[in-house]
Amino acid sequence: MALLDGTVRGLLLTELVRGMALTLRAMFRPKHTINYPYEKGPLSPRFRGEHALRRYPNGEERCIACKLCEAVCPAQAITIEAEPRSDGSRRTTRYDIDMTKCIYCGFCQEACPVDAIVEGPNYEFATETREELFYDKDKLLANGERWESEIAANIEQDLPYR
Ligand code: SF4
Ligand code: SF4
Repeated sequence: MALLDGTVRGLLLTELVRGMALTLRAMFRPKHTINYPYEKGPLSPRFRGEHALRRYPNGEERCIACKLCEAVCPAQAITIEAEPRSDGSRRTTRYDIDMTKCIYCGFCQEACPVDAIVEGPNYEFATETREELFYDKDKLLANGERWESEIAANIEQDLPYR
């Protein structure tokens, strides 16, 4: 009986017809894919992307060189050097992140008392060489200027949960 069933199904190509029907149905369903890079999916405000150093609205650097981020970094990717300015304030003279070591854990951002170092929403920073992923202070500050509005909006959204 089972052999007969299989023969009939084979002769009538029922599996093929069912497969084609499934394909036809899928053609009219909403697409799960997007046309990246022209279309992009939504990002969580907690997304941990490329690092940035932020400034206050008056242009002053937020970072006070407390080195908490350097101490907490499990990958030892952050290197900071600092010295007091003539006005007595403490600022970094060097702030490097070796992005090839970074594991994007977000601990540096969590540790920072002044929201200076953050992981911004940018995930499109692939490079052709390793050296381009050795970020210095200028690069990080430039990232901060470029992404400030998005970063500030994300911090604002996340504020009730911190
Ligand atoms: S995200 Fe984590 S691994 Fe990367 S620099 Fe910050 S603390 Fe270090
Ligand atoms: S980025 Fe934040 S945690 Fe790191 S040294 Fe500056 S103030 Fe301290």
